[in-house]
Amino acid sequence: MPQPKFCLVFLATIAALPLALLAQEHAPVNPLAHEIFKQLIDINTTDSVGNVTIAAEAMAARLRDAGFTEQDVQVAGPTDRKKNMVARIHGSGKRKPVLFIGHLDVVEARREDWTTDPFEFIEKDGYFYGRGTNDMKESDAILVTNFIRMKKEGFVPDRDLILTLTADEEGGNYNGVDWLIKEHRDWIDAEYCINLDAGEFEKQGDHRLLTAIQASEKVYADFQLESLNAGGHSSVPSKDNAIYHLAAALTRLESFSFPTNINEITRNYFQQTAELTQGPVAADLRAAAKQPPNPAAVTRLSAIPYYNALLRTTCVATMLSGGHAPNALPQTARANVNCRIFPDEDPADIRKTLERVIADPKVAVADVPLHAADGSVVRLVTVPPSPLLPELTHAMDDTVHAMYGNVPVVASMSTGATDGRITRTAGIPTYGISCMFFEVNDNRAHGKDERVGIQDIYDGIQYNYNLIQQISAPK
Ligand SMILES: [Zn+2]
Repeated sequence: MPQPKFCLVFLATIAALPLALLAQEHAPVNPLAHEIFKQLIDINTTDSVGNVTIAAEAMAARLRDAGFTEQDVQVAGPTDRKKNMVARIHGSGKRKPVLFIGHLDVVEARREDWTTDPFEFIEKDGYFYGRGTNDMKESDAILVTNFIRMKKEGFVPDRDLILTLTADEEGGNYNGVDWLIKEHRDWIDAEYCINLDAGEFEKQGDHRLLTAIQASEKVYADFQLESLNAGGHSSVPSKDNAIYHLAAALTRLESFSFPTNINEITRNYFQQTAELTQGPVAADLRAAAKQPPNPAAVTRLSAIPYYNALLRTTCVATMLSGGHAPNALPQTARANVNCRIFPDEDPADIRKTLERVIADPKVAVADVPLHAADGSVVRLVTVPPSPLLPELTHAMDDTVHAMYGNVPVVASMSTGATDGRITRTAGIPTYGISCMFFEVNDNRAHGKDERVGIQDIYDGIQYNYNLIQQISAPK
């Protein structure tokens, strides 16, 4: 799950309907969703000791019980613990399929760090607690519930609907979306993909602020800075010191900013969020959205970390090591620099820029390779933003306004990475739409006492159902 989208200090509470007025009548599906959600949370799907296959098999069994044929529900993957599930509702074939993706794996959680057992589904004070309640078993439960509901209703869409629940989004060596693209592209090929792991719907207390459609995301890359030296006895030091070379290089990096880069999606995002924001920041957002952007406004916004991350590629030192003894001159000094690269910029150019900024031949910059499950090196590529599809943005507008009134729909770019990068790179335009509201001031994904609002998930089921109907019901 990507980072929250807003610096909330700057958000005005906009006119939105109180949540209580919006609670929908959809009782019949809620007990089923509750059962599925509990089952998923109770199954540990961490990389260390968990098992994604058990969760995939459990969801497959539910779909088969609801009437899906053996052929229309596949469970497959590269290892016993890392199997993915793919299910299909057949449509009339008038339009090309739509793919829905969600990951079944969760981030590690230690019992002693939590108030309750993270792998036990607990209902308390209007929330469901447990690892994965917010990232993203709630969304997996929403999708499985609605696929069962549509099957039982005998719904025949005008295009196939594909549900894919996968392994290793959070880590691990067997990313399920990547594996399916390589091994079974025909199972999941689609006109476009909706990823429930991005595009947060944001609420603050009782007010729904905005709904997002994530159409782009930055690319993750690590680089190693390394300084090597012959070393020697520390009683006779020289100025030529590996730690000093590296420290000076990092200081130059600290004061460097990559050039501003604003694309269609972030420009639109700045314009729209200006409407939800008060004071000078609102004016700066509008000025940054102009073509060309106002440089002074961009500079002021860049002082706010979240806006800075939306305005340019960022590279930051994240790990440091060096030396081998307290009384020896260091022979090595190393730092990891983590970059989040703008979607249309070439990672190879970013490395060249780092070398230029560091400007010291005694500090080498090297790619830190990412490895695929088969051990091969994953080549970093630019991830094309997905062009906003009128069909889908209209469907979002209609369904959001019908259910939630005048809450805006905003296109967004994630500063973090999701599985959407894999489907986009494979040529399937991908849109992050979380379908349910999260409290922006209380994001516990990957953290302690992760939770989700009970009414939020039940509203999410209905919203997701309405959206699927809107994009696939025969007209
Ligand atoms: Zn996630």
